[in-house]
Amino acid sequence: MAASCDIMIVGGGPAGLAFACSLAGAGLDVRIVEQAPLEAIAGPKDDGRAIALNHASMDILGRLGAAQRIPEHMKSPLRKAVVLDGPSPYSLVFDSKRRGADTLGWLVPNHAIRKALYETFEDCAAGGLMTGTRAEHVRPMADSIAVTTSDGSVVETRLLVAADTRFSSLRRQMGISAFMHDFGRTMIVCDMAHEADHEGTALECFFHGITVATLPLADRHSSIVLTVPSHEADRIMAEQPQVPAEDVERRLSGRLGRMTLFGERHAYPLVAVYAHAFHAGRFALIGDAAVGMHPVTAHGFNFGLHGQHLLAREILSALRLGLDMAAPDVLARYDRAHRLATFALFHATNGIASLYANDAPPARLLRQAGLRIANNIPFLKDAVVSRLTATAR
Ligand SMILES: Cc1cc2nc3c(=O)[nH]c(=O)nc-3n(C[C@H](O)[C@H](O)[C@H](O)COP(=O)(O)OP(=O)(O)OC[C@H]3O[C@@H](n4cnc5c(N)ncnc54)[C@H](O)[C@@H]3O)c2cc1C
Repeated sequence: MAASCDIMIVGGGPAGLAFACSLAGAGLDVRIVEQAPLEAIAGPKDDGRAIALNHASMDILGRLGAAQRIPEHMKSPLRKAVVLDGPSPYSLVFDSKRRGADTLGWLVPNHAIRKALYETFEDCAAGGLMTGTRAEHVRPMADSIAVTTSDGSVVETRLLVAADTRFSSLRRQMGISAFMHDFGRTMIVCDMAHEADHEGTALECFFHGITVATLPLADRHSSIVLTVPSHEADRIMAEQPQVPAEDVERRLSGRLGRMTLFGERHAYPLVAVYAHAFHAGRFALIGDAAVGMHPVTAHGFNFGLHGQHLLAREILSALRLGLDMAAPDVLARYDRAHRLATFALFHATNGIASLYANDAPPARLLRQAGLRIANNIPFLKDAVVSRLTATAR
């Protein structure tokens, strides 16, 4: 006879772990299936990503008990974001002071978020965790879904939740199609030390063929994000450490003073994904499996946290009313709310990313005009800042 559980989450990344933590204490038998070994989940290595968390996300992590586990020196305040078009000094500025806030958000290393969520998951006994195990096949049944894992066992679950990356194999198996856009670009991320103080300011500078972003970290360090055509990525990754440091220093016109590469470089090909539905019978998508963002507007994990929070809220409310937590209307409410929160920004982000990757003269003119228009519409800047500083509901 197959084993059974209430909720199986496939993927023990940050979205899957946060979702399990959100359900802790509800009396549900929750299991996470994760293909990576336990060491990679319990003690994740630095993957170069500095995640810009907005106020709502920090709020959700705080309520779960995870934010408190992230060491203070790893939460670097983001006070200002400045967008520049090439070497032109004209800039579009988003300042936290505009809404009377101290910060727009915080930059936190991805591995620190993942570690904090794993520790929270363990401490609040949020469920079982099967590591080194891959979810291979799914078979929808009348009142459950049977999942076959790589060790040959079969588990029947009342609700299956996929948090298995933007290339989700479960999404495909459950017949949910997705919009996918390959930008033909790769992001190279690394840590650089610099002479000048960044003053909590993030810079996003768009040059011909390449974008340089600097995200302020502690102690005169910044996370540097280079977006380059994918065919150039291998060459740049193989360069001697001082080459990218000097290149960034030159492109920033010395704004941060002398730059020094610190640690390894990591490369991420850029593919954006948006699932055409976030649910099917007894099945839901969360995290990047639902919405896999281009990182330029730093929304991916913020959306992931928000989505899992919405789904958990619908499930807990159904349980309180004694209803089926995986009923179609419960999952449909989550789907609608998450779509409403993400759809417009997903497409706007893709539009911005494509415009800034395009070096044709009309696109360059449009970019320059765009910065000036955005700068002169105060309510637009207010809307962006208040969105970043709003707390979770
Ligand atoms: C360079 C870069 C910068 C970013 N910056 C930001 C930012 O500033 N702000 C922001 O909000 N977001 C940012 N993001 C996005 C953020 O990192 C992602 O949204 C987030 O990591 C997604 O988490 P997840 O749990 O959905 O997926 P993942 O982290 O991809 O985890 C999925 C897990 O599922 C497991 N898995 C997959 N298939 C199976 C299977 N069949 N069986 C078992 N396990 C499986 C995998 O091993 C993995 O552990 C950035 C991303 C990149 C690449």
